[in-house]
Amino acid sequence: DSHIIAERLQQALERNNIADKVDIITTGCFGFCEKGPIVKIIPDNTFYTQVVPDDADEIVGEHIIGGRKIERLLYIDPKTEKTVSDSKHMDFYRKQMRIALRNCGFIDPENIEEYIALDGYMALADSLLHKKPEEVIDVIKRSGLRGRGGGGFPTGKKWEFAHKQQADMKYVVCNADEGDPGAFMDRSIMEGDPHSIVEAMAVCGYSIGSPKGLVYIRAEYPLAIQRLKIAIAQAREYGLLGKNIFGTDFSFDIEIRYGAGAFVCGEETALIHSMEGKRGEPTLKPPFPAEAGYLGKPTNVNNVETLANIPIILTKGAEWFAAIGTERSKGTKVFALAGKINNVGLIEVPMGTTLREVIYEIGGGIKGGKKFKAVQTGGPSGGCLTEKHLDTPIDFDNLLAEGSMMGSGGMIVMDEDDCMVSVSRFYLDFTVEESCGKCTPCRIGNKRLLELLNKITEGRGTMKDLDALSTLGKVIKDTALCGLGQTSPNPVLSTLNNFYDEYVEHVRDKT
Ligand code: SF4
Repeated sequence: DSHIIAERLQQALERNNIADKVDIITTGCFGFCEKGPIVKIIPDNTFYTQVVPDDADEIVGEHIIGGRKIERLLYIDPKTEKTVSDSKHMDFYRKQMRIALRNCGFIDPENIEEYIALDGYMALADSLLHKKPEEVIDVIKRSGLRGRGGGGFPTGKKWEFAHKQQADMKYVVCNADEGDPGAFMDRSIMEGDPHSIVEAMAVCGYSIGSPKGLVYIRAEYPLAIQRLKIAIAQAREYGLLGKNIFGTDFSFDIEIRYGAGAFVCGEETALIHSMEGKRGEPTLKPPFPAEAGYLGKPTNVNNVETLANIPIILTKGAEWFAAIGTERSKGTKVFALAGKINNVGLIEVPMGTTLREVIYEIGGGIKGGKKFKAVQTGGPSGGCLTEKHLDTPIDFDNLLAEGSMMGSGGMIVMDEDDCMVSVSRFYLDFTVEESCGKCTPCRIGNKRLLELLNKITEGRGTMKDLDALSTLGKVIKDTALCGLGQTSPNPVLSTLNNFYDEYVEHVRDKT
């Protein structure tokens, strides 16, 4: 609908002979999916929600020409039941801090000049003209940025490994193979702010000594692909990609490679194999991609959200970034908030924000006034956390300590009506389907785990089956080859741990 709304607004402006005075800008996602499509009027920041194409004439006539706000399109605060016209005053946005999403919803992603106007490509210019590669890496190291794709590995250290390799060729890879069901943070960044990725990849190329960047993106993201292509072409046209950037001897260019949507190809060794035209299967590390990656050459792989943080860290400084977040997890994290929650959408909060703040303040609480039961963080192989975890500050280490994980940022909320045994079965079904089948614990172990869960959900299970679930789940975690298998039993183990009584209710013998 958004494109039709933009067209209808343009037509209404033309009919009223003011098309030369008002610009319609189609941006990326505002994050507030629950209330989309959104139309924001600048400069008064009026935030219209759930707009339909037929509202276009009224927006132009009443608001733009008449200067009167249209009450029925304004957001209604669920607590006060009053309308709110500026997003700054909405609970959904108030607790957010948008760093990776800083430009999404604000700029026209297809216009490089809008990105440049907000300090875009400053980090690249400053790095190339004023810093040695080691100095850029030092800033990223001191910022404390950790990989946002799931692993949480320190980004600066990763760059340093690749920088130190001696080789005739190195590669920078952007992992845009976002595979978690329900997660769309990387897609939103590429659709809303593609130049931040192009700039970050060029900075990384300079830092590690690579002239070539590759974006591995799933083919199901046509708009993200289109906007990345436009951004790459514009950056070339402005001399920000290509030979001798800013008149230096540094040259860098980017190519796009397409993934076919296999979840396992988000794992960096599988991703590299897929780019090489081989089966997308992980291999044991070491060697790490930083030593022997794409075509056997040193390769640095970072995911989209990680890269989106790079330019702003370099322009605002390592200390600025390191002051946000918790002791061991710096900066912010983007989450795709979904499930039985009032405000479904894409949010970005400082590390250390509690689950309660996310669910009850930003998320507006549970739908229909129902009781909160659990929140699953970390995508299909994350764990389910309960009421007792609501005040846990969210960061990489706290989530792991509680039996879940950050993953790439999926966050699915469940209410009192959800059966946790069925929930764990649902997630395991997904990982069984997505297992590449290379190693036995994951290929066979997860199938047996799923059979046990099927037996239990169908009322044929016994207490012994519950013990078997736990034992087998732990063995798979300890022995699977890659992250997919090592984390796949998390939904089962965390629900067994936190909702054991529900499992007992499903079995026959109960003793
Ligand atoms: Fe493949 Fe699963 Fe083994 Fe990973 S753990 S290599 S996805 S079979």
